[in-house]
Amino acid sequence: MLGISPDRAILNPLAGVPLGHIAKHAATRTTASKIADSAARRDAACIERYSLQDQARKLVPHERVARCGRFLSPQQTAVEVLHSPGDKRAHYSRLERCGSVWLCPDCAAKVSEKRRIELAQAVAATVAAGGAVYMVTYTVQHHLGSDLEGLLDKFGASQRWMTGHRTYREKICPAYQIFGGVRALETNHGCNGWHPHYHSLLFLSYPLDAAQLAELEAALRALWARAAAKQGLAMNEHGLSLRATGGAVADYVSKYGRDPECSPWGIESELAKSHVKRARDGGATPWDLLRRYRAGDVQAGQLWREYAGVFKGRQQLVWSPNLRALLGLEEEVSDAAAAAVLPGDAVHLGWITLADWLIVLRYGQRGHLLNVASAGDWERVRLFVADLCAMRLADRRRRGLEPPETPAPLLPPRQLHFFASL
Ligand SMILES: [Zn+2]
Repeated sequence: MLGISPDRAILNPLAGVPLGHIAKHAATRTTASKIADSAARRDAACIERYSLQDQARKLVPHERVARCGRFLSPQQTAVEVLHSPGDKRAHYSRLERCGSVWLCPDCAAKVSEKRRIELAQAVAATVAAGGAVYMVTYTVQHHLGSDLEGLLDKFGASQRWMTGHRTYREKICPAYQIFGGVRALETNHGCNGWHPHYHSLLFLSYPLDAAQLAELEAALRALWARAAAKQGLAMNEHGLSLRATGGAVADYVSKYGRDPECSPWGIESELAKSHVKRARDGGATPWDLLRRYRAGDVQAGQLWREYAGVFKGRQQLVWSPNLRALLGLEEEVSDAAAAAVLPGDAVHLGWITLADWLIVLRYGQRGHLLNVASAGDWERVRLFVADLCAMRLADRRRRGLEPPETPAPLLPPRQLHFFASL
């Protein structure tokens, strides 16, 4: 059996303890069980990211996502495992990273978390200065069988036409004191085919009342209808919506820095992580398509491959010029750089030799290994890997492949010596 045996439970820990102590203990247990639930969700998410990445690798084996988190970086000879005591998580180092927010579930999680934090800072700075942030969603009518690439190109052209139009720049923005925006692209797939859409945050110097909000929505909707028509697209009554942010931002900002794991799904999450969330409307996000493919749905795999070819290389998040500087944010880093960032408190935990790493990959255990390492105890990781190696040996024996494979034959003697010293 894989993994580490659980510690022995202590029987009847509350025997003979007064009731008041039991109540106190129960409260502690409730908190403890919440922490355990959160950790279990986090562990499951880690395993799921690697599992979905494996599906992506099968569908697009020549893209960088197929090497991401599997191949050693140039000049490296072993996989390093780091541990971050702050959030009790483990990380791999010295592996290639693809940095794709579209194709790679693991990189997308890392990049979108960084983007979310930046957006939260931008929203917080605006609100602190007496301003307000609203979210606009732009969509167009779409049909089953629509060509995704053609639809996306026209959709992008419509958006550029609208935000470059005099009515938008010289009338709408000054009238409502809109001083910047951040636009995020995403798509899902439903019964009407591909559904690309933009979420856009509008940064205003002052909050709007309900009447002003309705006026702004009407003005944007009219201009968006013209923009879509210019490209031969049509919008229906759902083509544009404007949403006040309500308390979500305030809630988020008040909790920011203390408990990010449990923060509410604020608009900054909507924008930065909409791409990685699960679709709410019955449609499928790109990751849902990978899940369906994993379950045997070949058509879902074909759709995902089409999506990957069209979205690869496109920018997911676009800030209006000067907005970051205006709000005191640092210069934006590339997706690849954002995906490679490790927590500042991450420290070395141990090395995994190339021979062992190949076994970890063979059994699809990258996520499980990180979860074991999140305890910060290398001995647990060593036992986990030893379990995998024993399983590999047993598999080979079952298939009549004795004697066992020679260790690390791919490495030159100098590197074998390096492994021997670890
Ligand atoms: Zn990646």
